[in-house]
Amino acid sequence: MAKSLEELASPFLKGLIPYTPGKPVEEVERELGITGAIKLASNENPLGPSPLALRALREALPECHRYPDGGGYYLKRGLADRLGVTPDHLILGNGCNEVLELMARCFLLPGDEVVIADPAFVIYGMLAHLQGCNKVLVPLKDWTHDLEAMAKAVTPKTKMVFIGNPNNPTGTAASPAAIASFMNTIPENVIVVIDEAYIEYVPPELVPDSLSYVRQGRRVIVLRTFSKIYGLAGLRIGYGIAPPSMIELLNRARAPFNVNALAQRAALAALDDQQHIASSRRVNELGKAYLSAELERLGLPSPPSAANFLLVDLKRDGRAVAEALLRMGVIVRPLGGRYLQSHIRVTVGTPPENERFIQALKAVLQS
Ligand SMILES: *Cc1c(COP(=O)(O)O)cnc(C)c1O
Repeated sequence: MAKSLEELASPFLKGLIPYTPGKPVEEVERELGITGAIKLASNENPLGPSPLALRALREALPECHRYPDGGGYYLKRGLADRLGVTPDHLILGNGCNEVLELMARCFLLPGDEVVIADPAFVIYGMLAHLQGCNKVLVPLKDWTHDLEAMAKAVTPKTKMVFIGNPNNPTGTAASPAAIASFMNTIPENVIVVIDEAYIEYVPPELVPDSLSYVRQGRRVIVLRTFSKIYGLAGLRIGYGIAPPSMIELLNRARAPFNVNALAQRAALAALDDQQHIASSRRVNELGKAYLSAELERLGLPSPPSAANFLLVDLKRDGRAVAEALLRMGVIVRPLGGRYLQSHIRVTVGTPPENERFIQALKAVLQS
């Protein structure tokens, strides 16, 4: 008898559940027959892309019959100048998610141990699972990575440690001192992935010098993205910064044209728009202060966020509240798992979006 497709598939697919992204506005509106929904579920920039990026996109459109530059020459050079590394310290990805995938495919083997905080970005655990690794989950301490405990969780079998800084879904950042002492204790054979998807939002005193480890040739990759503050999530582009020897290995597994031409052009233009970055940061700080104060008034605390979202403890079923908010056209992210049954994650929006979220939340909590 023929085997089932599942028997033919990788055994490590067993137990994997597809990632559930935040629902797109159009889908919610279509399903509920409403208009004017707002999305505060995927930590996108509420101001949209930089006007410079939009102009670069329009200029690039007539060339879209051409394959992109598979080496990402101009963008890598632009990034390298700004970051103080060379282009051969850089790999571009179809979102930094693809760089995470390449890290898993190139380095994680069945039976390897992978140390991950809990809760952290769910993709880390999914990738480890898909490679047949053993996940070592280290609970957060005060909603922040417990880097001491994570260092202690390392064994001779540990291949990789993931650090989301700031962490998603909590928004908390590890202190630069904690990162430094973690890096001092971590054995050479362990690869450290430092995911800095939200680093442009982080107050300067909380930004660690993670690139110094890359420049020293440590087994470290720092991940950054154009999806968050740069407002280009729909184009899918992110990058990794690592020692050239690591980049060279990742390039062996990378698809030849993994980052599309429009994304490369828009990203390069967005890098130059410091004004857009500054106003995005300001809108975020003001909105976050407003949301924190309003939530506090409602008796709903959230951990201190260094990013563009808040984790909110609703003290009741988070999924039910998220569903009720959805019916009012406010899309937030329910969480769940072991620690977050009563939580949602909400992205800081524009001032009107933030007010609408608070009004809707008040209405839901009263009903
Ligand atoms: C959003 C996010 C990413 C990246 O996303 P891409 O869109 O794939 O660049 C990576 N890590 C964390 C923690 C994120 O929240």
